Amino acid sequence: MAPTNEELFVRARARIPGGVNSPVRAFTAVGGTPYFVARGQGAYVWDVEGRRYLDYVQSWGASILGHAHPAVIDAVRRAASDGTSYGAPTEREVLLAEAICGRVSGCERVRLVSSGTEATMSAIRVARGFTGRDRIVKFAGCYHGHNDALLAGGGSGVATLGLPDSAGVPRAAVGDTLVVPYNRVPELGPDVACVVVEPIAANMGLVPPVAGFLEGLRLACDDAGALLVFDEVITGFRVGLGGASELTGVTPDLFCFGKVIGGGLPLAAFGGRADVMEVLAPMGPVYQAGTLSGNPLATAAGLAVVERLDADAYRTLADRAATLGQMLERAIGGAGVAVQVPVASSLLGLFFTPEPVVDYDGARAAASSGAYAAFFHEMLDRGVALAPGPYEIAFPGLAHSDADLARTAEAAEEAATVLAKAGLGLRS
Ligand SMILES: *Cc1c(COP(=O)(O)O)cnc(C)c1O
Repeated sequence: MAPTNEELFVRARARIPGGVNSPVRAFTAVGGTPYFVARGQGAYVWDVEGRRYLDYVQSWGASILGHAHPAVIDAVRRAASDGTSYGAPTEREVLLAEAICGRVSGCERVRLVSSGTEATMSAIRVARGFTGRDRIVKFAGCYHGHNDALLAGGGSGVATLGLPDSAGVPRAAVGDTLVVPYNRVPELGPDVACVVVEPIAANMGLVPPVAGFLEGLRLACDDAGALLVFDEVITGFRVGLGGASELTGVTPDLFCFGKVIGGGLPLAAFGGRADVMEVLAPMGPVYQAGTLSGNPLATAAGLAVVERLDADAYRTLADRAATLGQMLERAIGGAGVAVQVPVASSLLGLFFTPEPVVDYDGARAAASSGAYAAFFHEMLDRGVALAPGPYEIAFPGLAHSDADLARTAEAAEEAATVLAKAGLGLRS
């Protein structure tokens, strides 16, 4: 007999802190037992009990083509038969670097790493090394991975767990980190090395930039001699061919990529202006390295994905998310529940509040009602898997069909009706 979700969660908790290898997966924010995935195919995952879920997590957006896409599986299988890691350069690293720089204007040099956390950590080191300054500015509610220096005012799991900072991070590590509100251009002193920002914030729910915000950051950085760093770990290769910088028309000095670019394997990247990136060893004095960086399986998967993402694919993605957004607004709002469904290209957020959300304070206020957790479980009971936390977003991808979207809206209407009956999230 295959183990149940509950049995696996009990065993997991005996050996893995909280039973998970990344905190949000533990369902702490929504309660209950996480489903343990046995396999995925396209828009769907199946748990170890054989239950099928229409999946909007999609590895937190990494699986933009859907699970187990044949082209990705084939590329990985072929790469694996030639060996899984060498510790020497390979052709596919060059091809992927060319593919990234060819698509993202302003990204002239790029280095591959294994996680988004590594990408942002390295980008900040480069910015500090290039400018000779220590201070960094980040925005409340933005998440940039779990680097010490960036674990202040974080989004995603940090927000969910109510840890504005993390224990174990020395005060000195965040002593040069200034946290300011999103969607307001801060004043920058002459000691600022860089401003790091999610150009479309997607770790406090979805909070798009207001008009003038990113343009204002660009100007403020130029005036202060600071570098602008776009953390496009979610938005890169998702919101369009050239990512959020192309979509918004603002070009940063440094970019961070992850998720989509690895095709579901551990791969991320940071890149940007040639003169800035060339401070890196072996050319310059900023050290950065990785045993598995540019891993052969990961570059094979990344290339297979990027090859399939053309202008048509992005149009399809954006259309699908826009349709889903309208359907959800109608389904949930129609049941009398106050909801905001922000959509930016193929990113979709869900806030149970009558007010549009523009910053972390707004996101926290919306999350505090408990409506998201109730809605999450009603949807899960109906076979639709949303992200297990109110600060996360949904990732409709190329595998989600029109029928899938319609099924989602149907489930959402039923779920919202249950919420309304319980008096949760009602429009006042
Ligand atoms: C996911 C994420 C990261 C961290 O990436 P990991 O691969 O989980 O380390 C960094 N920045 C943003 C914007 C992210 O969404």
